[in-house]
Amino acid sequence: MEKQTILVTGGAGYIGSWVVKDLVEKGHTVRVSVRNKSNEEKYKHILDLGNNNLGSVELFEADLTKENSFDTAAAGCDSIIHMASPFILSDEKPQENLVDPALNGTKYVLSAATKSGTVKKIVLTSSVAAVHGDTIDMQEQGLSEFTEEQWNTTSTLDHQPYSFSKVLAEKEAWKISKRQTNWNLVVVNPSFVMGPSLAKISNSGSIDFMNDMLSGKFKTGAPDLNFGFVDVRDVAKAHTLALENNNAEGRHILCDRSMNVMGLAKIIEAEFPKKYKLPTMQSPKWLMTLIGPIFGVTRKFVKRNVGYKISVNASKSKNDLGLTYTPIEKSIKDMVDWMG
Ligand code: NDP
Repeated sequence: MEKQTILVTGGAGYIGSWVVKDLVEKGHTVRVSVRNKSNEEKYKHILDLGNNNLGSVELFEADLTKENSFDTAAAGCDSIIHMASPFILSDEKPQENLVDPALNGTKYVLSAATKSGTVKKIVLTSSVAAVHGDTIDMQEQGLSEFTEEQWNTTSTLDHQPYSFSKVLAEKEAWKISKRQTNWNLVVVNPSFVMGPSLAKISNSGSIDFMNDMLSGKFKTGAPDLNFGFVDVRDVAKAHTLALENNNAEGRHILCDRSMNVMGLAKIIEAEFPKKYKLPTMQSPKWLMTLIGPIFGVTRKFVKRNVGYKISVNASKSKNDLGLTYTPIEKSIKDMVDWMG
């Protein structure tokens, strides 16, 4: 691939920093959008990546809640990786803090791409949360696994609002994409991302979840919640592969393996025996239904998610993008090592 000028929105975050690393190592000129350039501590690692590699990095200030905010950063770019979006698992103002930035932000970034006249390709970071909502969805839809064909139809503003924000944003991106001919859209849909972080400061739900796990939040019993997991470095690679491959099209589920919270705890315990206050047993569903609301987990969430298996089919990412997956044991070990 020829050297390009590429805007990575949210490029200083948990996943974004690995994407920027891949791109500057390949010699690209990378523009990274951040909300507040003066926060040097938060963005130093990104500037260092630019200084220590073949390519270069420039920071641009832009906000998903402000119209026209991305126009300057997108002007003159060849491609955009649109990754910025709040990944907060619970929030008291979901419309304001999740849906508006995800949905309006997508409109503003895609509009900046069209206005630029130079952008030819956009890779959007969606999520498996846009493919399915509650884990019971698989059973209710009579499926043995989810593929790129499915859309999450069960999340709403009041129930799984983060997932709802991702569905709205991805649908809007496809809608806008079909109305124009300047650029092509390719989407990646990662499962729950694990692995070390280059960013020291991030609000990513991935890091919050591992912090909860290691600090003993589940020590009295793990909820039987199942997730697909994928390594953060593989997710970054999927973005660059999607960008480079002219034949890449549509959505791409990214997942190495699915397991529940106990499965994850067992991997950590095997690598770091007796170091953390990890759960040694599963919490019964009736107990979770009873005490869930005290911890901010609704009864509806427990009813529709605890105790159900989840399976997603990631073969398109392997066949079309050529992605190979890091075993999730390594992702977890590296993440826990990084957290110390
Ligand atoms: P981070 O919180 O580390 O990254 C989110 C990024 O979004 C930050 O860089 C942040 O920028 C930016 N952002 C948030 N709100 C705004 C706003 N109002 N205006 C401008 N930028 C904003 O999380 P992740 O790296 O985990 O998530 C990155 C993307 O990947 C998200 O789209 C998320 O939905 C998606 N994803 C994540 C998964 C995971 O398990 N981690 C799984 C599937 C998808 P700033 O630097 O200014 O704070």
